[in-house]
Amino acid sequence: MKFGGKAVANGDKIRTVAELIKHFKETNEGTQAEGAEIVAVTSALSGVTDMLLDNAEQIAAVGDMDRVTEFVDALRATHEQAAADAIASESELETVKIELRERLAEMEKALSGICLLGELTPRSLDFIGSFGERLAAPILAGTLRSLGLHAVHLTGGEAGILTNDDFGNAQLLGSARDEIRQRITPLLRIAVPVVAGFMGENQRGIVTTLGRGGSDYTATIIGAAIDADEIWLWKETEGIMSADPKIIAHARKLPYISYNEAMELSYFGASVLHPRAIEPVMAKKIPIRVKNLFKPEDAGTLIGEAAEPTKKVAKAITLIENTSIINVTGTGVRSISDVAAHVFSALAATNIDIIMISQGSSERTISLVIGTAQLDRAMGAIRGINAEGTVIRDCTVNSNVSAMGVVGAGMVGIPGVAGKVFAALGNEGISVIMISQGSSEFNISFVVKKDEAHRAAQAIHDFFDMGA
Ligand code: ASP
Ligand code: MG
Repeated sequence: MKFGGKAVANGDKIRTVAELIKHFKETNEGTQAEGAEIVAVTSALSGVTDMLLDNAEQIAAVGDMDRVTEFVDALRATHEQAAADAIASESELETVKIELRERLAEMEKALSGICLLGELTPRSLDFIGSFGERLAAPILAGTLRSLGLHAVHLTGGEAGILTNDDFGNAQLLGSARDEIRQRITPLLRIAVPVVAGFMGENQRGIVTTLGRGGSDYTATIIGAAIDADEIWLWKETEGIMSADPKIIAHARKLPYISYNEAMELSYFGASVLHPRAIEPVMAKKIPIRVKNLFKPEDAGTLIGEAAEPTKKVAKAITLIENTSIINVTGTGVRSISDVAAHVFSALAATNIDIIMISQGSSERTISLVIGTAQLDRAMGAIRGINAEGTVIRDCTVNSNVSAMGVVGAGMVGIPGVAGKVFAALGNEGISVIMISQGSSEFNISFVVKKDEAHRAAQAIHDFFDMGA
């Protein structure tokens, strides 16, 4: 079971999560499993990872030691408060507070180093970024113990998540599966292992991270390694929906989608799943369920191997609200692929998630879509390239846009789907700013003006009758 940042946003929520684990551990409800053995994977408390990454950047840039202290104090306060609200037993609370202080002290040392040197390497960024999960896991484990369960917390490395050195987006090593199985399986019989999501370790024991939203990936890696019966990803939503129900009144929960469709939804950047989370379970065909924390008895969305026989060509429309287009124009001195190489490596080095890419054939311009929350970091990275002045001539930004994606396995080989999508938009008088279609044909993505995005989603949802 994996719990996302919103599920563990504060002490009360962590308590709810712990009670839920206890319930399923004791009743074994809703599964075909023979034994109620549960591994819990936790994310950082909501917003903490962003805070860690942003503060690390600023501390490196400004070199102000007071800032380190202030930041660590603020994190301590947040986590101690969460622990105090979640954990009723005084002695458990004391244990957890000591663990939190040790971890925070370790983080403070690293941040002080970054502050003094004024340098933030991808390796140190991963080290700092992993603390959200490393602070959350002891709190959840302590809460479980305060409810009378045996629980131990583990870092990614302690759980056997061995990765390569690709900091910020580390890949699992082949040897990890055995390692994970050996470390987790014996624990399962005696305790609930609570694993810090998102993080791993390279072979020298250096902390790595698996990419933003990586706790889903941690859960599926572990589930596959230990041959779990099912992997449950708990969210504060009903499951995977045909559209965001806050925007589309008739959005429906998709009771089932295939691995491929789920991958498509996540690759596009919809916050359902980590893009690589499906891959570990595909070979073993382990079902994944996206479950609703508010309705634990509901089946949620099942994600499985088979393509669902459905008449619907397009099943879901996703919308990423706070996005920005960055248009990078090369100087003309270098080839466009050289410009692209510079831009993409700089963005990769700072862990920017790119939602869409497009390049017109006649222009020397590449357009990228990213989340606006990452814009400052991205622009910093792009400005860094231009130190020499020979790569980029111009770089403009439009933050007044939303990226959207239409997904459905039924689109493959059916002519005219793109035509219908854009006709539906045209009928509404909505103009499309950027388009890209993945060659998998499961997905058509495009960008529209922010204030037209909801209308666009509605038009497409209606046109393809996604709510029925
Ligand atoms: N805390 C990490 C992030 O915000 C990983 C996760 O939430 O899954 O990206
Ligand atoms: Mg998160």
